[in-house]
Amino acid sequence: MTDNPKAQTAVMPDILTVPRKRPEGPDGKVNIVGLTRAALRTELARIGTPEKQLKMRVNQVWQWVYQWGKRDFSVMTNLSKAFRAELAAHFVIEVPEVVSKQVSSDGTRKYLVKIAGGHEVEVVYIPEASRGTLCISSQVGCTLTCTFCHTGTQKLVRNLTAGEIIGQVMVARDDLDEWPEPGVATGESGPRLLSNIVLMGMGEPLYNFDNVRDAMKIAMDGEGISLSRRRITLSTSGVVPEIAKTAEEIGCLLAVSFHATTDAVRDVLVPINRRWNIQTLLDALRDYPKLSNSERITFEYVMLKGVNDSIEDARRLVKLIKGIPAKINLIPFNEWPGSAYERSDWAQIEKFADVIYHAGYASPIRRPRGEDIMAACGQLKSATERARKSRRQIEAEAGLNS
Ligand code: SAH
Ligand code: SF4
Repeated sequence: MTDNPKAQTAVMPDILTVPRKRPEGPDGKVNIVGLTRAALRTELARIGTPEKQLKMRVNQVWQWVYQWGKRDFSVMTNLSKAFRAELAAHFVIEVPEVVSKQVSSDGTRKYLVKIAGGHEVEVVYIPEASRGTLCISSQVGCTLTCTFCHTGTQKLVRNLTAGEIIGQVMVARDDLDEWPEPGVATGESGPRLLSNIVLMGMGEPLYNFDNVRDAMKIAMDGEGISLSRRRITLSTSGVVPEIAKTAEEIGCLLAVSFHATTDAVRDVLVPINRRWNIQTLLDALRDYPKLSNSERITFEYVMLKGVNDSIEDARRLVKLIKGIPAKINLIPFNEWPGSAYERSDWAQIEKFADVIYHAGYASPIRRPRGEDIMAACGQLKSATERARKSRRQIEAEAGLNS
């Protein structure tokens, strides 16, 4: 950690992180979406479900919500009418509300969804030939201030609940009409439309660890959304103490926003580097307990003209990551209004990629998607914030100044 007070200000900007506790819906009813299996069991016990029925009831409700995508207790036909009424009296099944949807000329879909308190976050669906990836958000805004990232300029921050995180997957499935019907064979209709999740939307997922973990456990649960842990990628700017925990408690794939090959440059681009520098980060990645050749870490590297895109940078990069099973994902910088950087020239990106490729690493260049609707990586920033709110307003909404 640096002694420079200015640097510390940048890492810990004057941001209000609004706490949230119980996932309550209207009328104080508890939202089922986002509860872990254990929490759902506790809730069902609370309303008087007999102990010996608990396991079965959890399974039944779970399947209706996450396997069949139902939002109404009255359709849960394997439960008695009386029990359905009890459920409806105490619980809701609520997902974020889709405020707007834009479809890019390349098929990318961007949803703006509204969550409790009127905040908005963005969710992006990217269809490809063999898979469909949903890019989801973990926070409203981000407390970190990476200088090339649009989200990082957003002042308003709150952690999303687990329900709001998994809810993004559920609203995308609604929109793609991809919930199977009970009893109807789904057939061999090819790969799923929504087959992968990346935590690369708004926010730093490892600053909202518990909620991200609970939501991803729901996504991976075999009796529900049922995505393999290899189809989920969590991207972090480098919150070192949480990296081992990610392997142990979530077990998904990891991507790291690396973006620079010297501490001097990374300190500016990814200011969290002032707290955990390149060497500390690399040590944590080397220890990532689940590392194996089939589970490479993705090093994300945004290509900024004249800043981090030299051939020397490429050479330093391969030296730094030596010994770590890795894939390097080169991201052409996505410009946003007012950004201080330019995208590297295409020829330079290709030269950079060549150095990496010849060192034996895969070095895909990420094709920008959804640019016409500002849906590309790092461009996400909610509309609510564009009409900036005062700190007083935010505090009032959070009930902090009453
Ligand atoms: N906070 C996490 C995840 C969200 S950002 C993280 O930083 O990793 C997802 C990816 O988009 C990160 O690699 C981020 O550095 C990158 N990114 C941010 N702004 C970008 C921009 N304008 N152009 C290209 N990539 C960007
Ligand atoms: Fe936050 Fe990631 Fe953007 Fe940095 S790149 S400001 S960590 S969302």
